[in-house]
Amino acid sequence: MPSAPHPVLSVVVPMYDEAEVLPLFVERLRPVLDGLDEPYELVAVDDGSRDRTPVLLQAARRTWPQLRVLRLRANAGHQAAISAGLAAARGDWVVTLDADLQDPPEVIPEMIARARAEGVDVVYGVRTDRSSDTAFKRRTAHLFYATMRLMGATGAPDHAGDYRLMSRATVDAVNALPEDHRVLRLVVPALGFPSTTVGYARQERAAGTSKYPLATMVRLSLDSVTGFSRAPLKLATWFGLGGFLLAVALLGYALVAKLTGHTIAGWTSTVMIVAAFSALQLLCLGILGEYVGRIYTSLQRRPTYYVAHDSLTDERERHTLHP
Ligand code: UDP
Ligand code: MG
Repeated sequence: MPSAPHPVLSVVVPMYDEAEVLPLFVERLRPVLDGLDEPYELVAVDDGSRDRTPVLLQAARRTWPQLRVLRLRANAGHQAAISAGLAAARGDWVVTLDADLQDPPEVIPEMIARARAEGVDVVYGVRTDRSSDTAFKRRTAHLFYATMRLMGATGAPDHAGDYRLMSRATVDAVNALPEDHRVLRLVVPALGFPSTTVGYARQERAAGTSKYPLATMVRLSLDSVTGFSRAPLKLATWFGLGGFLLAVALLGYALVAKLTGHTIAGWTSTVMIVAAFSALQLLCLGILGEYVGRIYTSLQRRPTYYVAHDSLTDERERHTLHP
């Protein structure tokens, strides 16, 4: 087999039970990539799908030599699946893209053109129109970006999801990060590499259902906060300081009351103080716990994903065994 040319572009697509949308996705993406007139690879990361996704991918590979399938042993989640794809991608440029056609693949050529023309490392796809998302998703997304900015995660463009183009240097930098549960949409801007944005209208999921239950969204948000900011810990310190000042004032009041003989049966105030301070303490413990938990998982050093097979290396092995 003639060895395929080194890909200029790698497109990394995480897929979890996307059999319904896969044929539509292939149909939309292939003309865009073929039209680039440059060697490319499509790295489909099959994130432990339980439906017909792997079957469809193998079938598509027969007619699409640039399609490379990276199968993960078990479902690792969106961010980990993208990380797996980034580690495997060989291109000089790497685009990450969801499989559900919410982010139109037609923007890819524009991203590459902008990166080359402006000499930047990263081109973020920014959703200028999210009217196709549910009101709930829009509101929570807005809250997410606002909170993250408040916490000091600067540089992340608003409403930039995981649709972005990265240079080889950027991908190498991301791959070299020791963090386990990295939230790529914050990690990449934090590198601070030169970047630009390309706007597009977010579309509805072409088929199938969202693989992002509320619990996962909450997890992503917690990972984002604890992975990016120590602000909540500072908040705990400020609570503590405020509480201390209040306690001193209350102590003075209590002493004066005692000396002047005005000691009343202050049940309500006692209950309120105890309740308020206990709640604050629990809150601060919880904040601390989130960070300790992060240290704990990072000390365990458990991989966030396991690769079952990569069609590229499988092929190479076959050729060395039966040349
Ligand atoms: N995905 C994944 N593993 C998961 C969940 C999702 O690889 O555990 C993929 C999914 O196939 C899709 C992308 O991540 O390509 C985004 O998921 P989805 O569209 O369901 O999320 P939403 O757009 O609703 O936030
Ligand atoms: Mg989606």
